Amino acid sequence: MKKAIALLLMAVMTVAVMGCGSSAGGAAGDGTLTVGTNAEFPPFEYVNDAGEPDGFDIALIKAIGDKMGVKVEVENMDFDALVASIGSKIDVAIAGMTVTEERKQTVDFSDPYYEAVQYVIVKKDSTIATADDLKGKNIGVQLGTTGDFLVEDIEGATAAQYQKAVDAVNDLLNDRVEAVIIDKNPALVFTEKYADQLVALPGDTFGFEQENYAIAMPKGDKELADAINKALAELKKDGTFDKLVADYIG
Ligand code: GLN
Repeated sequence: MKKAIALLLMAVMTVAVMGCGSSAGGAAGDGTLTVGTNAEFPPFEYVNDAGEPDGFDIALIKAIGDKMGVKVEVENMDFDALVASIGSKIDVAIAGMTVTEERKQTVDFSDPYYEAVQYVIVKKDSTIATADDLKGKNIGVQLGTTGDFLVEDIEGATAAQYQKAVDAVNDLLNDRVEAVIIDKNPALVFTEKYADQLVALPGDTFGFEQENYAIAMPKGDKELADAINKALAELKKDGTFDKLVADYIG
């Protein structure tokens, strides 16, 4: 009898554990994928009219969560806090985040999902046109981004670091900085808003290299990495990915 009860208990517990789990495993094994972002980077992430994080990345990670069978919870935080928060506050980060060797010391990256390059935003009457023209300039960047790191390598230039890219753009409008260096698509969104005053110059003119966005994940969580990459591949195959690009990026 005791044995029968013990067996029954074991069976109940097994079902309970399986019920909590998902196909995801790893950090999302509890059925929820907690995703960090910095909703200051349109069209990839921004706060929508309802006050919720929205944008291409948010839609993409929700679609990935659907494929994995987990609930997605989005945490909005400072961009420069994302990498360090993976594994504690958040499971993964999606934030138009470029794969870099430095970040790879701390986190793993999913397969890349989007190509990017830094752009230079200047006022329409600016004389800045080539890499040489950036030397010695005061350049607005978002703190901890590849744009920020890039300015370190420009001779004599100073990086004016902002938590929000939009504040850098505002200071450009107010002549407090001479240029803003930021990823292509956000640069296009910001300049479109002030098309009468600003222009976005393509990074290849300045010798900036191609970057790749990927989802940052806990180091060594192979189960989670496999589940995310599998979901991403499926979304690319079934047309969802292209639809999201059309809807959010155009
Ligand atoms: N792609 C840039 C980076 O990874 C900027 C990302 C962002 O500002 N959200 O640093």
